[in-house]
Amino acid sequence: MLKDLRDFLRLLEEKGDLVHIAEPVSPRFGVAAGIRKTSDIHGPALYFDHVEGASMPVVGGLYADRRRFIWGLESSPEEIFDKFIQGVRHPIPPRLVADGPCKEVVLTGRDADLSRLPICTHNRKDAGPFITMGLAIARHPEYGNNVAISRLQLFDDQTLGFRSVLPQHMGMYYDAAEQRGEPLPVAVTIGNDPYTTLCSQVPGSVYLDELAIAGGWMGEPVELVPCETIDVAVPATSEIVLEGEMVPGERRVEGPFGEFPGYYHGVTEQPVFRLKAITHRRDPIYVTALTGPPNTDNHVMRQVPLEALVYDRIRQICPTVRDVCVTDGGVTMHVAISIRPTFATQARDVMLAAMSTERIRFKLVVVTDDDVDVRDPVQVEWALATRVQADEDVVILPRQYGAPLDPSAHTPRVWAVMGIDATRPYGRPFAEIADVPGADEFVIPGWTDGARR
Ligand code: MN
Repeated sequence: MLKDLRDFLRLLEEKGDLVHIAEPVSPRFGVAAGIRKTSDIHGPALYFDHVEGASMPVVGGLYADRRRFIWGLESSPEEIFDKFIQGVRHPIPPRLVADGPCKEVVLTGRDADLSRLPICTHNRKDAGPFITMGLAIARHPEYGNNVAISRLQLFDDQTLGFRSVLPQHMGMYYDAAEQRGEPLPVAVTIGNDPYTTLCSQVPGSVYLDELAIAGGWMGEPVELVPCETIDVAVPATSEIVLEGEMVPGERRVEGPFGEFPGYYHGVTEQPVFRLKAITHRRDPIYVTALTGPPNTDNHVMRQVPLEALVYDRIRQICPTVRDVCVTDGGVTMHVAISIRPTFATQARDVMLAAMSTERIRFKLVVVTDDDVDVRDPVQVEWALATRVQADEDVVILPRQYGAPLDPSAHTPRVWAVMGIDATRPYGRPFAEIADVPGADEFVIPGWTDGARR
């Protein structure tokens, strides 16, 4: 069981999927450059031993490839959807314990100073350094715990910009506190085990307790310790914990920041996080991640949760679903689904289900036959080219709830949804696929899969 970040790093070392960068690297673009490169080549996670001006190492690109998401949940490509759904269906609430490693060092008052952390500047025109892998944890008397990763802009040693917008859950928590005229206590943890990290990415209702889903995946409760200065509990094995609050009515200009659609976003007025304490492990490890053009940690961490929830929904109306792929190029907005149709219009049935699972809204839903591997963009495009007539097979739903930050949307969070039925016409004869006997077994000396051996 991976109990903390260090367990996960050890696992990645064993698999040869964590590489140390011994040369000094700047927190301004240097760390991000490494993460960008490894993200683009499906490379390893990076462990920066020496970040200039920093007293601690920095890990980057932890989830920049799908294989590390799957290893993080101690699963396999074949079983990841089932493992994911099992945790969602059978949550185990977290357990409060008295003490934990995240309390080895406690800094309050003037000692609580964000300049102690190697907060990185990522994209060229970002407004400054941003914490990008902080789990923001808040409580609401009715909604329960919320865990979310938000971008956090470093304003000064004691304050962060905290982008929190409705109807995202953290926006709802802050809105509720603001309506009561009260500050919202928030803890931000950095450097967590994969279960508590990835539970932040599960879409669902505001009542959903993400930490209980982490418990469901683990088969035992996540252990939490109470914060020193606020009424919030945090995962005991966190490397670093920032305790603070968001004051009602306070807004400051935040952004720009290179965001998940691949473009700069901002500038907007956003709430402010005021630091009250920092606690951390002895020899803490800082974690950062990149977002921007696909594919990065930010995309990968969303892909499997969306795929698993949509797969589970579709399986109930179409047990002959083969696979669901939130595509690498689609920045979590596009999904391709393969099925073996068993009646006419079933592809459209599946299409509509994919368009309305929880509050997941894809901009493009493609449904193919099960002879198409939807993880291969060439095969999906082949189906689009040869099994689609746009006047019959395309469905458009105007003005639907959409993702934030789509630069082509006229109104934020409002977009048109397109479904494409790329299955062969049901029940009618269709052209036969040309194939060559013996091709798979044919050996070309010195070559394997497109590369010299
Ligand atoms: Mn939530």
